[in-house]
Amino acid sequence: MTDWQNQLKNAIISPEKLSRILGCDQAEVAAVNSRYPFRISPYYLELMKRVGEPLFRQAVPDIKEMEDHQGMVDPLAEDTLSPAPNLVHKYPDRALFLVSSQCAMYCRFCTRKRKVGKASMQINQETIDAGLKYLRNTPQIREVLISGGDPFLLSDQRIEEILRKLREIRHIKVIRIGTRTPCTLPMRITPELVNMLRKYHPLYINTHFNHPAEITQQAEQACALLADAGIPLGCQTVLLKGVNDSLPVIRELLYRLLEIRVRPYYLMQADLTEGTAHFRTDIKTGLAIMRGLIGSVSGMAVPAYILDAPEGKGKIPLTPDYILSHQEDKLEFNNYQGIPCSYPFL
Ligand SMILES: *Cc1c(COP(=O)(O)O)cnc(C)c1O
Ligand code: SF4
Repeated sequence: MTDWQNQLKNAIISPEKLSRILGCDQAEVAAVNSRYPFRISPYYLELMKRVGEPLFRQAVPDIKEMEDHQGMVDPLAEDTLSPAPNLVHKYPDRALFLVSSQCAMYCRFCTRKRKVGKASMQINQETIDAGLKYLRNTPQIREVLISGGDPFLLSDQRIEEILRKLREIRHIKVIRIGTRTPCTLPMRITPELVNMLRKYHPLYINTHFNHPAEITQQAEQACALLADAGIPLGCQTVLLKGVNDSLPVIRELLYRLLEIRVRPYYLMQADLTEGTAHFRTDIKTGLAIMRGLIGSVSGMAVPAYILDAPEGKGKIPLTPDYILSHQEDKLEFNNYQGIPCSYPFL
């Protein structure tokens, strides 16, 4: 058994064990777990113990998950935009293909909380074949985003089979994989996996780090293996209350990501997912963080701040407003330091 399989085998999934190790309320953990399963690998548990709160909050069930009745079960209306099971075709040129119901850790804030880690998220050879068939028959799709769950919880062989079948479809030019394993299970990124992936270029990977304490030596090594294989790496960070909702934490995270060759891609406003209200920040918080980043830190470190609109209306960029007025002869605006300037129309 490989290192990563051992991590999964030894992951904590029992409320009894979790409460014994961390001293949380066993009955509460069990109640949450029956609706929204948890899974914490020995690797992530170790980090949590070192750094405390922000990582703990992402991983450990909280009874507040059961007390949120305002959120939506399927906030992005993914289930209604699915022409094939586990395939979401929302934007014209790209589709989201869910190929795994498992993750190395079940993040408490997950948008697909209704599904991940549950038997009801039925993914099998039949649904995958149905998704491939839709992709084959839909020539306007240029890019497929493989996600889940986490695609890297599948075996190398299963991943390769999907990649090979996608590559046989001529109109699919770009493959993107969304995986949190470089953060939650970095030993999953093995030389064998990477040598297989590099055969399927152009291949992009977007990963998901939320806090600088998640960028360990092992995470750095996982990203180095992927980057050395010529795979451009991006990061989708979720803005989360009590985890990373401050400028210094986000700035440190973004700087560290650039150091490990991961280009920040999105900073995402938390979705209106049922059971995640305690993580949601004010939009103003996100805009203030963006204002603190733009111009002050390397442009390469600055992600787009994105809100994914309810009912499947799509992602909307949220940018601080720099424009003061549109005049006949000039545009008036504030610069990144808040100093008023103008651009004359000559
Ligand atoms: C987010 C998302 C994508 C990818 O969008 P990008 O802006 O290209 O990152 C594609 N399909 C669905 C359904 C999505 O939610
Ligand atoms: S790894 Fe991604 S899909 Fe899996 S639980 Fe975390 S946020 Fe959800």
